[in-house]
Amino acid sequence: MHKPFEREPFEPKVSIVTGGASGIGRAIAVELIARGSHVVLADIDGEAAVRAAAELGSLASAATLDVADAAAVTALVRQVVADHGRLDVMVNNAGVAIGGLLEELDERHWTKALDVNLRGVINGVTAAYEVMRAQGSGHILNTASLAGLIPAPAMLPYTTTKHAVVGLSTALRAEAAGLGVRVSVLCPGFVDTPLLDDIYEAPASFGGSSVRSRVRLLQPRFLTAELTAKRAVDGLAANKAVIPVGAMAHLTWRGLRYAPGPT
Ligand code: NAD
Repeated sequence: MHKPFEREPFEPKVSIVTGGASGIGRAIAVELIARGSHVVLADIDGEAAVRAAAELGSLASAATLDVADAAAVTALVRQVVADHGRLDVMVNNAGVAIGGLLEELDERHWTKALDVNLRGVINGVTAAYEVMRAQGSGHILNTASLAGLIPAPAMLPYTTTKHAVVGLSTALRAEAAGLGVRVSVLCPGFVDTPLLDDIYEAPASFGGSSVRSRVRLLQPRFLTAELTAKRAVDGLAANKAVIPVGAMAHLTWRGLRYAPGPT
């Protein structure tokens, strides 16, 4: 039976945010805490997660987690439910920026992008869905990107995995609706976070200058993590399917034209 959850209030008590130690994930944790939720910051950088949790106060805690490790993700979700009795919000946000033109990329680039950006979201979704189906309630928010809706220049693995996250999210949303589980996907433009400085083994097309300075040529003003997170949690509360933040128009990159949709 379809549950009328549009009328239900959004009052999360227990949340997990992957990639919660930094950037957008940390800012989403701040928003969820402001709404009264305990938030587990789960990050591959466990020390950074501990530091962030200490900064965010008594409603935050930290866990070391590699989202690419399915067994570890399942174990964390089950541990949080054992500790807190429930899981209201699962934010599958951990991600890495993998750039390059096809001819610059090798197996490692694709494996890293697929393992973290796609397999990591699948792992989080699968573990949270098991718990939320049993509860008959819950919210899953997956962080994709505007690069999940339109191509991001010279970022083929990133664009590919983020499109997959949008597909996974919108398809699962339809399956989940009758079970009381909401699924949303966040699609921001460029956001001012460390991700822009830390492109994974940046290929030649990004060489010679930082990604940040190159991105500035495409989008002179970055979004802030804070604004992005506020939009994300407002969108989650409103049960929006896709939560775009910012906009990218037609982009050109070294003479190549990337259209904002199929042409
Ligand atoms: P960030 O680098 O500030 O934060 C990413 C966090 O994920 C880091 O704390 C990192 O340690 C963690 N992480 C990386 N690999 C992990 C793994 N295997 N398991 C667990 N944690 C892992 O970057 P951000 O910009 O806040 O990125 C968060 C999400 O937002 C990503 O999915 C990213 O693709 C997406 N996004 C970012 C932008 C942007 O311009 N910054 C735009 C759109 C979407």
